Parts: sequence; structure tokens; C-alpha cells
Amino acid sequence: MKLRVHFVVDPMGWFCLSMVFGVWLYNTVFIPTLILFPHYSEGHIPCALVACYYLASLFCITALVRASTADPGRLPQDPHIPHSEREHWELCNKCNLMRPKRSHHCSRCGHCVRRMDHHCPWINNCVGEDNHWLFLQLCFYTQVLSLFTLLLDFCQYYYFHPLTHLQQEGFGVRHELALLRVSTFMGLLMFGGMSSLFYTQLTGILTDTTTIEKMSYFKSDVGSSGRPWQQTLSEVFGTRWKLLWFVPFRIRQPLGGALYPRLHV
Ligand SMILES: [Zn+2]
Ligand SMILES: [Zn+2]
Repeated sequence: MKLRVHFVVDPMGWFCLSMVFGVWLYNTVFIPTLILFPHYSEGHIPCALVACYYLASLFCITALVRASTADPGRLPQDPHIPHSEREHWELCNKCNLMRPKRSHHCSRCGHCVRRMDHHCPWINNCVGEDNHWLFLQLCFYTQVLSLFTLLLDFCQYYYFHPLTHLQQEGFGVRHELALLRVSTFMGLLMFGGMSSLFYTQLTGILTDTTTIEKMSYFKSDVGSSGRPWQQTLSEVFGTRWKLLWFVPFRIRQPLGGALYPRLHV
């Protein structure tokens, strides 16, 4: 798969995406400035902790940018369909184009997406066959970063704070406490939301059911795909190397297989 930048023109999506970016920016600027750097210079925390925080933050923003700008699996205007595969294709009655079965027409984006899971306003993009792996990484790294932030907020409040030699009743301290509470609130919200989303996404992948299919009339058909989880996830991430499942700085190469038969599109 070539690296193609996909950009959805939707002001509501831009608004949601900028909110997510704002939360990331707030914590990436606030936590190092107020907690990590002062305590590192005072010798309370090691350099590795600061590096780990920035690494989690980098992985998180990379997954966000890539999930929102990656092509989710858009179909070409004039696909070449081999005769042997015709039974796996159907006509979309909205855009009047042929598409593989299990594709879905996204009304927000205005086109069909192969094995579309859902349209996510928070990344302003569809989640489909080609960017599902990036969406999973985004859910995972948001959980990691939120948990990291929550732990640092907790330590700052109950453990680090008494160590600093600040004037306890000063404006700076009160201001810092307000920022800390905002960060804790956002951390709890992001961690709770992302954990449940991550669990839902994983169970959907392992049972070979998209979010759209779960909400459809075929709900009773939902069950296990009957295949090993390693194989299912390898196909989603496009590699059998489990370590690479966690790396957002790469280009996914589809493996093919029973879950996602590679049709010639
Ligand atoms: Zn369509
Ligand atoms: Zn969409």
C-alpha cells in the first residue's frame, strides 16, 4: 500500500479533531513544564521517566495524525473486477459504484470504504480496512498517555508537592493546583473512554464483526471468527511481527487471508 494522504472536508470533524489535539497538547506541555522538568532538576525523578513520557506522547500524536490522514480503504472509480470474484461484489446504490461485500457507504465522507468499521468524528475519518490498525494504536497509546498523566498528577498532588519549596498559599501554587485538576479530569475522561473503546474494537476484530454490522439486523450472527487471535490481528496490522503491531511509523502491507480477502481493486 502506498502512503496516501486522505483529508475529509467536514468542519464538525475538524472541530472534534482539534479538541482531541488540544487535550494532547495541554498534557504534553503542562506535565513536563509543571511536574517532570522541575522534579528532574531537583533530582526527584530519573531522566528515563521524562524520555518515556515524551515517547508515549510522540507515539500517541503519530497514531492520531496517521489515523486521521490515512486512506481508510476508499474504492477506485473504475475498479477492475476479475470474473471469478464477481460474486463477492455488489453495487452501492448511493454512489453507483461496484464495491466488495462488507464495504459500507459513509455519508459523512461521501464514498464507500472497504470493510468499514465506523466513521469517527474524533479523527475526522472513517475507520476501515486500511487504517483500522492505526485506530487501534491510537486507542492504546491514548490509554498509556492518560494513565501516565494520571499517575504523575497523583504523585504531584500527594507526593511531589510537599517536596517543592514553593510558598504554599501563593498564587502560583493555587494556579498550579487548578491546572492539575483539569489535567486529572481530562486524564480520567480519556482513560475511561478509550479503555471501553479499545475493548469494543478488540472484541469486534476477534469476532470478525464491524461496529456497523454489530448495530445492524444481523446482530445474532455475531460470534467468534474461529481463528487464532494471532492470525486475525496479524491481518489487521499487516505483519506477523508482534512488536511491529505497536509501531505507528511504518507502512502497512496487507497480508491477505480469509478475514480480508484481497480483492483486485
Ligand atoms: Zn457508495
Ligand atoms: Zn467517513
